[in-house]
Amino acid sequence: MDESDTFAVMRAEMVSNQIARRGLREPGLLQAFQQVPRHLFVPESMRAHAYEDRPLPIGMGQTISQPYIVALMTSLLRLKGGETILEIGTGSCYQSAILSRLAGKVYTIERVCELADLAKDRLANLGYSNVQVFCEDGSKGWPPAAPFNGILVTAAAAAAPQPLLDQLTDGGRLIAPVGNLYGQMLQLWTREKGHLDCQDIIPVSFVPLRGKYGWSLEDWELPGNSP
Ligand code: SAH
Repeated sequence: MDESDTFAVMRAEMVSNQIARRGLREPGLLQAFQQVPRHLFVPESMRAHAYEDRPLPIGMGQTISQPYIVALMTSLLRLKGGETILEIGTGSCYQSAILSRLAGKVYTIERVCELADLAKDRLANLGYSNVQVFCEDGSKGWPPAAPFNGILVTAAAAAAPQPLLDQLTDGGRLIAPVGNLYGQMLQLWTREKGHLDCQDIIPVSFVPLRGKYGWSLEDWELPGNSP
């Protein structure tokens, strides 16, 4: 068996044991996770661990999320195909690649320009041509391409940023971890006829969202800042 076959087997096990077994069974979603080669989205030294049931460091103090969490957040968008999606926190661009298989157009914003540049090269090399990467403060959203059918925030904020809620279409969905260093709740926001509804999904743990509507370094690490 060559290396890519070995990774494909590990990927199939990830899909069935970590995603389908936990209740996410939409065929398109599972197919996307089977197709996207997660080991090519982590540093070379981490490749052997790419299909484990946990987040992994990707450099610059940032992480690639646990596969199940990527799947859950993707599933909560209820994609049918053709949607315009905004992701805040490109990181490794694994989540962006998954979204590119299931939506029409993906805009992804990363504030660390080295990570954004790596992501651009990676997505181009792997042929994910419906994703655009920008190095910016994504806590303000991405007005040039708004409104969005779905917005995924993959870093933790103290509250769902208002500019992002404002950039949802009618019927749009926003998924964001909301909380602090000690833990966050994954929130699902839906906009229906101008009315916003918020639902708590599960407790999660993400790196902080920085920028205008995110955490400052000092506040995030303030010892008294517990729930
Ligand atoms: N979705 C990623 C994981 C993201 S980790 C993946 O699939 O790998 C969170 C990322 O959010 C980090 O790369 C961090 O630099 C970025 N980030 C934090 N605050 C941000 C902001 N205000 N705008 C854009 N990106 C931000």
